[in-house]
Amino acid sequence: MFMQNPIFIPGPTNMPEVLRRAVDMPTLDHRSRHFADILRPVLAGVKKVVKSDSAEIFVFPSSGTGGWECAISNTLSPGDRVLSARYGVFSHRWIDMCRRHGLAVDVIETPWGEGTPADRFAEALAADKAHEIKAVLVTHNETATGVRSDIASVRRALDSVGHPALLLVDGVSSIGCMDFRMAEWGVDIAITGSQKGFMLPVGLAILAFSPKAMEAVKSAKLPRTFFDIRDMARGYAINGYPYTPAVGLMNGLKLSTEMLLSEGLDNVFARHYRIASGVRAAVHAWGLELCARREELYSDTVSAIRTPAGFDATSIVTHASQKYDVAFGMGLGELGGKAFRIGHLGALTDVMALAGIATLEMCMVDLGLPVRLGSGVAAAQQAYRSSATLATQAAA
Ligand SMILES: *Cc1c(COP(=O)(O)O)cnc(C)c1O
Repeated sequence: MFMQNPIFIPGPTNMPEVLRRAVDMPTLDHRSRHFADILRPVLAGVKKVVKSDSAEIFVFPSSGTGGWECAISNTLSPGDRVLSARYGVFSHRWIDMCRRHGLAVDVIETPWGEGTPADRFAEALAADKAHEIKAVLVTHNETATGVRSDIASVRRALDSVGHPALLLVDGVSSIGCMDFRMAEWGVDIAITGSQKGFMLPVGLAILAFSPKAMEAVKSAKLPRTFFDIRDMARGYAINGYPYTPAVGLMNGLKLSTEMLLSEGLDNVFARHYRIASGVRAAVHAWGLELCARREELYSDTVSAIRTPAGFDATSIVTHASQKYDVAFGMGLGELGGKAFRIGHLGALTDVMALAGIATLEMCMVDLGLPVRLGSGVAAAQQAYRSSATLATQAAA
């Protein structure tokens, strides 16, 4: 029998029943008028979620990684210089992709646990008098370390020296969960996927292009076919696609954006903050440390937790899966064996989070760590008691 426990990996996330039903729909002809009834609200809804009136939205059958490829291949040319910082597995993979596409990446090595070093970006941009750097790449929420970067500070770094580079932002594990202000921060391309903040199955890359990014598309020379947004834009103009759209997922995305907007984005962000605060209170009660080095870096969607030296952090994740059938995230890259991760994004409640915290306590005690059963649960309970909104109010 398949018993379903909530999942605590940082994507894919738990799916609300209504979204599962929205995705499960009869086949419809994507060239019929019915498709427009899905496509139009999706494009309008995503625009609101990323907070931009002027962005153009593109949705591809793909995943977040395809979103990276779509962003760079539509706006850059072989040999172009781009600036980025490496502070976790996801920022690392995006840099690697750029190199494989023949871009020259200036990488600022940054300790894992820190965020994007805007001050060092400012220096690098100031030194680039000839404006050879065509794009700055930032991973907003580094899912490997549980660190949120300050995108506004990167925008200030660009503006302080009047640098015209595009600002491309990976928001895969932040958009729809933590505040994201595309227009205000001057983001040129925002990238996400369907399986994190949007609470859907994996299968869509979701992008927002600023007018400046749309302009860059005209002269960009990196090869692109499947991800060419010019073909996609021609499809949208006639309420269609250049190929077959993932109609069920798009229908889910329509409902998901409606749900996020009707809950209210500020309420969605507050809910993620509240749940994350409970998790952090538990971590503190266990006497363990987050990878994120300072409070302003704490991610509200994922916490990466260091375990004592000499202890294999992966054993917690393996044990939770084998004994209790609950999924948590392993440490990735240089945190492999040194940290484990709790995903707390998407459709999650305080009560679900308490179950995850309780499970981790059982695992840590089973494996001999000096953690007391109930200590983290009690700390999280206190956090939730003092901050929970009445369910009847939240539903209204
Ligand atoms: C999950 C994730 C990705 C990769 O997305 P896929 O959908 O797995 O391709 C990229 N960046 C970040 C920050 C992520 O969390």
